[in-house]
Amino acid sequence: MEIKRGVAVSPGIAIAEVFLLEAEGVRIPEHFISAGQVEREVQRLETAMEQALGELEALARRVSDAAGATIAEIFSAHAGMLRDQYFREEFFERIRTKKYAAEFAVSRTMRQWRKVFQEDSFLATRVPDLDDLERRLLRSLLGAKREELGTLKSEVILVAHDLAPSQTASVDTERVKGIVIEGGGPTSHTAIIARALGIPAVVGVGSVTAELSGGDMVIVDGSQGLVIVEPDEETLESYRKRRSVSMQSGLILMEELRDQPAETMDGRRVHIMANIEFPREVPGAVEHGAEGIGLYRTEFLYLASDEPPTEREHFEAYMEAIRQLGGRPMIIRTLDLGADKFGGVHDVAVERNPFLGRRSIRYCLDHPEILRDQLRAILRVSVHGDVRVMFPLISSVDEVLQVRRMLDDLCEEFEQQGEDYDRDLQVGIMVEVPSAAVCAEMLAQHVDFFSIGTNDLIQYTIAIDRANEHVSDMYRPLHPAVLRLIKMTVDAAHDQGIEVGLCGEMASEVAYAILLLGLGIDHLSAWPAVILPQLKKAIRSVRYEDARALSEKIVNIQDADEATRIVMEFNKNVLPGLFP
Ligand code: PEP
Ligand code: MG
Repeated sequence: MEIKRGVAVSPGIAIAEVFLLEAEGVRIPEHFISAGQVEREVQRLETAMEQALGELEALARRVSDAAGATIAEIFSAHAGMLRDQYFREEFFERIRTKKYAAEFAVSRTMRQWRKVFQEDSFLATRVPDLDDLERRLLRSLLGAKREELGTLKSEVILVAHDLAPSQTASVDTERVKGIVIEGGGPTSHTAIIARALGIPAVVGVGSVTAELSGGDMVIVDGSQGLVIVEPDEETLESYRKRRSVSMQSGLILMEELRDQPAETMDGRRVHIMANIEFPREVPGAVEHGAEGIGLYRTEFLYLASDEPPTEREHFEAYMEAIRQLGGRPMIIRTLDLGADKFGGVHDVAVERNPFLGRRSIRYCLDHPEILRDQLRAILRVSVHGDVRVMFPLISSVDEVLQVRRMLDDLCEEFEQQGEDYDRDLQVGIMVEVPSAAVCAEMLAQHVDFFSIGTNDLIQYTIAIDRANEHVSDMYRPLHPAVLRLIKMTVDAAHDQGIEVGLCGEMASEVAYAILLLGLGIDHLSAWPAVILPQLKKAIRSVRYEDARALSEKIVNIQDADEATRIVMEFNKNVLPGLFP
């Protein structure tokens, strides 16, 4: 038995045999052709494009049924590129004038487009789509049957160096029980789509494809970020038990707790909210008892098109979500592009240090027209429900003042045009940069709420790239520095009379719920929906006083492993059903 540690990106337990997806290095047999072969090559490429279009349309239909229209639009976007006359001519030009073989023309053209895309921080996020399209065309040209994950015969754990967005979105969820990826981080396309499909997944595991063989038995613990290879009988049994306990208790808990408040035994009320990427996730969240949406990651609107979303597209997506929320609150986070979004291991950001670069709110402040369109849409929907706006990656008071000014100007415009909007629109910020946590007491004077983004807060505090598999085992939510910054943020917010939520992945770990409660968090916003009843259960099983005592002890523990041990011990005592 061997235990490999990675980054937990999609919770749950899966046990099955490995299906190894080989790296798709494609060898191109010949590069150049003679003049007499030009028309034949053009014809071959036309046929390959037609075949690829047929595949993409079929995939879009299948995925639309399984995962919703927004994800399916990835394929429609690929098909759109293939139909684009300018794009097509580039390929044919190379065959006609440079006498390239069709495969070589495809690979050269794509290489050139990749360069163009990489030079633009918005387009750079679409490079994995180009790669995906290139592989599809080459496979079709070379006649090799593309490994379609949708046609698997038995239940498997999919192990790969990396998965293209379309591969992840097209997996057969009946057969693919878990996903293990060598590279990447929690915000790669793969991670996000795996979560949306409800498949347990661990990424950033390191060189597993060389070490595993098809047919090896593995356990994927998508909650702890573990991959257990050839588990012994005892481990297998314990995981089987945990899996069935969690499935059964999930259903029972959902029924039992859906309408119960998340309130401790001594009366401290917190709120359990859901994170979403797509409006279609709202009904599932509500069914599982979500009291609202604590984080709507709007950058996924970009998946649908190569252009930034228009005000109307923003508006329609938010309205779709609001209509299904029945008056519950929804926190819309403004666009948070850049760095690892959406590049994953394909990340090709042109900045030397993209995590410290022009990402997120910085990008939006540099492109105010993009932010304005989004804010206008938010103001418009604000009269249709309990809508709140939240700005990501704030690192100084000055940034808050800038975005508030922009919002004030837009409100002024609305007033002048006689358009209705919520005059009490709540404005919040994410605390996910250490400088914001340290200056929380200053920032709290300018906003209505905080939400702590532990995914980024942890990476910036411990200096651990959240998307880098080489340091993923150092990514420790219970590092005392992280916990102290959370506490500092909560205390500053409460001193100023504002609420503070937590919407990073840490909130989706039931094991941390009581600790976070003890640190004073007012709402936890988590995903996937099945976690929500468990979070409620945790809150309802403890006294606030005891949770506080636990958190006071844990912030003083020097070693994160020791802190984890103590927290787990506490959980086992108060929540034996969830932590057997
Ligand atoms: C976070 O950083 O914790 C967060 C919720 O934002 P994202 O994961 O989208 O960067
Ligand atoms: Mg973040």
